[in-house]
Amino acid sequence: MGSISFKSINKKYEDKFHAVKDFNLEVADGEFVVFVGPSGCGKSTTLRMLAGLEEITEGEIWIEDRKVNNVEPKNRDISMVFQNYALYPHMNAYDNMAFSLKLRKTSKKEIDQKVMEAANILGITELLKKKPKAMSGGQRQRIALGRSIVRNPAVFLMDEPLSNLDAKLRVQMRSELTKLHKNLNATVVYVTHDQTEAMTMASRIVVLNAGEIQQVGTPRDIYENPNNRFVAEFIGSPAMNIARVTLEGNTIVWEDFRIEIPAGRLGKIKDYNKDEILIGIRPEDMHDEPVFSENTTNNKIKLKVEAVELLGSETIIFGDIKGQEIKVKLDSRFEYETGDVIELAMDQNKISFFDIDTEEAL
Ligand code: ATP
Repeated sequence: MGSISFKSINKKYEDKFHAVKDFNLEVADGEFVVFVGPSGCGKSTTLRMLAGLEEITEGEIWIEDRKVNNVEPKNRDISMVFQNYALYPHMNAYDNMAFSLKLRKTSKKEIDQKVMEAANILGITELLKKKPKAMSGGQRQRIALGRSIVRNPAVFLMDEPLSNLDAKLRVQMRSELTKLHKNLNATVVYVTHDQTEAMTMASRIVVLNAGEIQQVGTPRDIYENPNNRFVAEFIGSPAMNIARVTLEGNTIVWEDFRIEIPAGRLGKIKDYNKDEILIGIRPEDMHDEPVFSENTTNNKIKLKVEAVELLGSETIIFGDIKGQEIKVKLDSRFEYETGDVIELAMDQNKISFFDIDTEEAL
């Protein structure tokens, strides 16, 4: 139904600006793939090339067994949901949803059946007579989704569809979209700059930066084994801490902290012959209580507290170790204040290592 193949896709604007560089990706039928990256990384351009709204400079896009480079958007069997909903203001919700079917000369009976079915799935039956201006942002977004669903496309494309909603509604719509995807069994390609949206909804995440794919993987994969420093810092909130430390043989030395890298984690570090290395440790992997670690001479490090952010059951501590900002996520049991010095222990099995020059994972 809706598999997609991007083969060496490149996009150059006006033959100069290289917005998308050698993009290769296979999306299986029924996947929920999220393109994530900072503003300007090329995610919308890639989605728009798939939709047929932007010309492809080089490469091929296939949907199932059809090369679509020169296929009109309306004939690609896709449906796109935008962040600004793009509803017709003078039509009520029912007519907005029915519009594309009317254009295709679908019978009244079939239109009614499809609109009612989509309205049921989205829980919007009572809104069908309302016009967009009489609806909330969340309701409008549901109508926009409904308009896509009635077309029964093989592929849904979504470009930041939740970004105009308030924080609470965004969280709610995230789980609704996940459920909807399961119900429809369709392929979804979703663009966002919000790593939380990517982590919570994607079956696979594609992390982009400056027009290039940095990593493709399941949310867990990307969170636990980032390919490079960019991915490590982009995925996860608060971001992973990165510190420049000394390497003495197989021992990492960071202020008072000394650990021997466990044999199982040595991997490419065996052949790494520089004196310094970057380590990455997530805020939740530093603890204010002892952590069991077999190879540690001293796995404690002192952190001077500079700011405290209480989230509820967890507290984020912002501190400083040797001029380096470090964030730690701790249980809120103990109340820390600015100026306190906390002794932190690190979970040595959770440390990531990056080449000091290339910043690629080791
Ligand atoms: P955002 O989240 O801000 O929309 P994005 O990752 O979706 O970012 P794109 O919209 O794909 O980024 O843009 C990628 C790059 O291409 C940006 O640097 C942008 O300035 C540039 N760009 C986009 N459209 C054009 C255009 N029509 N002409 C020239 N450059 C463009």
